[in-house]
This record gives sequence, C-alpha cells and structure tokens, in this order.
Amino acid sequence: MYYGHYVNGIWGEDEETIVIKDKYTEKEFAKIGSASKKRVSEAVENAQFTFNTVGLSPVERYNILMRASELIKKRKKELVNVIVSEAGKVYNEASTEVDRTIQTFIASAEEAKRISGTEIPMSQPNSENKLAFTVRDPVGVIGAITPFNYPLNLTAHKIGPAIASGNTVVLKPASLTPISACKLVDIMTDSGLPAGFLNLVNGSGKETGEFLLEDTRIDMYTFTGSPEIGKHIKNKTGIKKVALELGNNSPNIIHKDATNLQQIVQSCVNKGFSNAGQSCIAVQKIYVHEEIYDEVVKRAKEITNKMVVGNPENEQTQVGPMITESEAKRAENWVLNAEQEGAKILSGGTRSKSVFTPTLLIDVKEEMKVACEEIFAPVISVISYNDIEKLFNTINGSNLALQAGLFTSNMQLALNAMQKLRFGGVIINDVSSFRADIMPYGGIKDSGLGKEGPHYAVQEMTNEKLIVINL
Ligand code: NAP
Repeated sequence: MYYGHYVNGIWGEDEETIVIKDKYTEKEFAKIGSASKKRVSEAVENAQFTFNTVGLSPVERYNILMRASELIKKRKKELVNVIVSEAGKVYNEASTEVDRTIQTFIASAEEAKRISGTEIPMSQPNSENKLAFTVRDPVGVIGAITPFNYPLNLTAHKIGPAIASGNTVVLKPASLTPISACKLVDIMTDSGLPAGFLNLVNGSGKETGEFLLEDTRIDMYTFTGSPEIGKHIKNKTGIKKVALELGNNSPNIIHKDATNLQQIVQSCVNKGFSNAGQSCIAVQKIYVHEEIYDEVVKRAKEITNKMVVGNPENEQTQVGPMITESEAKRAENWVLNAEQEGAKILSGGTRSKSVFTPTLLIDVKEEMKVACEEIFAPVISVISYNDIEKLFNTINGSNLALQAGLFTSNMQLALNAMQKLRFGGVIINDVSSFRADIMPYGGIKDSGLGKEGPHYAVQEMTNEKLIVINL
C-alpha cells in the first residue's frame, strides 16, 4: 500500500518515501510519500483556486458528509484494521474510534445546514434607521495538521467542519499514522466531494509541515498536537486564524463522599491506560481524599495487575504498544526519575520494546515531571489530599488545562469545583477523559486556543461578517 500526495482529485507519487510500520510487529505496513515544498505549494494553489471558483451549497455539503458517514460504516472493518496496525491501538478502542468518526461526520453534515449569523439590535441614537445582522463566510483555505493518537477521528474533526462550512483543505496527517487519513480522503471522494476541496500532503512535520506553515495563501491553521508545536505554529504564522488543540495532564479528584468507589476506580484506571495513555485527556493523576486513599490505591492496584497487555490484534488486549520504542523509553525514564525522587512504583514500570506496562505511582510530588508535565503514556499517579480548596489551587497552578474530573455526591462541592477550576471542561462524576464528539472541546492556557466539536469548529472556520442596511 502506497499513498503519496492528493492534489486536485488525483493521487501522485513523491520523490521520497517513508515506511510506515505496524506498531506492534514492527513489520512494514505501508509506504507514504514525503511532499516537497513544490508539491505543498501546488496543493495550496489548488485549494485556493477551488475555493475561489467552485462552490458547494449547504445541502450538497450535507449530502456529501452524510454519504461519507455511511461509507465509513460500510468500510468499518478495513478502517479498524488500519488503526490497529498503524497506531498500535487495541482492537476494541479502534472500533470505538471508527464509530465516533461516523458521529463526527453526521454532526458535521448537520452543521452544514445550520450556519447562520445574528440580528444586531441597533438601538442606539442615530442608528435606529438601520437594519444590521451578521452572516458567516467560510475562511478560505484551511491548513489542517493532525496527531498520531486518533488518526481517523481527529482528522474527521478537521475535515468534517471545514467542508461543512464551505472551506477547502490541505491536510497533513501525522507521519507515524497517515493511512487512516488517506483512506478518509478516498472516502470523501467516493462520497462525491469534487476535486480540489480536500488535498493531502504526506511527510514529516519538520519538512512537509513547515512548508505548509510557510505558505501565506493559507487562511487558517487547525492543529491538534503537542503544546510545543502548537506554540511554534502560532508564532510562525503571524496574523492568521489558528485553532490549537493541545495537551493536558488530566487531574481527577475522588472526594471522600463519592459513591460506588469500585466503579469510579475502574473507570479511572481504564481511562488512564486506554490507548496506552496516549490521549490528551487520559487520566494522569488521581487525587484521592486521605480518608479513602488506601482503599482506592488497593483497588487501583488490583485492577491494574489484571490488565491484559500486548498484541493489539488480540481482542482481549486492553493495553497495546506505545507509538514508538523511543516514546516508551521516554516514559520509562520519567518513571525511573520519579522513583529516584521518592515516588513508589506500585504496579508496572517495565518495558518490552514499545510496550510499557500499565504503571501506578504513589508518593508523587507535584513538582515531579510525571505530575506537572504531560506523560502521554500508561502511567497514573495516585496522590492523597486533605484540603480540597487547596487542591483546587494546586490544580489551577498547572499550565495545562483541558479537562478535569471530580467525583463527589456533594452538590455544593460540585458547584464549587465548576466555578473554581480553570479548565476548558470540568466533568462531574465522570473522568476527565469523557468526550462526546458533538460537545465543545478545547483547553485554555497551554492546552489550546479555540474549540472543536463540529458546531464549535464551524464557528472557528467561518468569519462573521456584518451587514448594515440603511432603511
Ligand atoms: P506533535 O508531535 O505535536 O505532532 C502533531 C502534528 O504536527 C503531526 O502531524 C506532526 O508531524 C506535526 N508537526 C510536527 N512538527 C511540526 C512542525 N515543525 N511544523 C508543522 N507540523 C509539525 O504531537 P503528537 O505526538 O502527534 O501528538 C501528541 C500530542 O497531541 C499530545 O500533546 C496530546 O495531548 C496532543 N493531543 C491533543 C488533542 C486535543 O484535542 N487537545 C487530541 C489529541 C492529541 P509528524 O508527526 O509527521 O512529525
């Protein structure tokens, strides 16, 4: 299987080739091209030409996106197998990702029919003889850059709303997991999307990604990935619209009055280790009230020790490989450093190639890297607290603030947390990892800028234009 670049509705070969490996077997799975600056320029030129010369009505966009959702459903098995191989995601989670992608396309299709502005009340002296309202125009050419960890659904979160709102796209998927995005491009074509609306360039971030950032014809960048690259994109692209969906080090609080502790601990552990911890909202820290701390630690250890680890193709496997061996080594080093600084490894902490065993840490201090940075690996720290007000302040001290979770049966405490926690989202009585694709999703501080979720992404991907009529 080979995918080069897709420009003006035609797949072409690039001069250089990148081998994509199966992340568990490490055998060759596919090959992609590495688009040169010239190819990227052609892709942007074509996207701009298409935007300026071809239009799709909202109903046409709706029909295309709905057909895409149906085709994804039909091709589910193939897409699941691609995700399992290229991302090393375990079978059940890959299956869930495909199901969620269908929902992302349906929601995007629905948004295509709902784009609207607002009437502006002109109730100010000397303005009363005016009728004013806003309309929403597509921004133009969107440069979309996606990460490796949800290669299908996070690509869908870019191209679904972009097409729904009448834009054209140049997409650069993560070079570690590009095949899901290439398949999605084929699906969009098979769904009737005319040539030029969706172009794709493969290649590394350092080369192809940079070429995309340098092209001033792009009107907006939408990026999901690390805070480091997000900041780089914002600095490099000047006065351009940017939407940045970045990292987190997800805190989850279990207060002493939380009910059904076994279920809570089970879901914290599951969501800390799902996708081998490589999710921006994976449970990274569980803060537990001191009165129930020992109980939670005991249960978390029991659940962790039973986890099935290894080959993602095996339907029983719960934790598969990390994306690369070097990423697994990085996680191993962070855990060893934490241990040297006084933390205790309660479970896991071992590595075989790219498989890092689900790891539970206790005696973790806030200033340890495993707590204050994003670990992005199957590692959970369980930390005790006694004063929840102080804990809110500690949690608010982080530069990463995407979503946080709180378990409590005390309504007043829940309301307090809703008001005090400065995050993109606060999830009460579920884990920080909860995400429905239709909801507004995005962080503040170093966790990002702007919201995703088709309705909200459409707002980002359109410009609000004021119309004033003199009556
Ligand atoms: P990453 O290293 O930042 O890469 C993301 C994308 O940016 C990839 O396509 C990458 O290409 C590209 N890129 C890298 N350097 C670039 C450059 N100089 N110019 C332009 N593009 C460049 O992130 P990742 O390791 O794939 O993903 C993990 C991160 O994503 C974590 O921090 C995670 O929290 C975050 N994330 C956030 C969300 C959210 O919705 N908030 C969702 C998922 C993941 P190559 O891969 O080819 O180098």
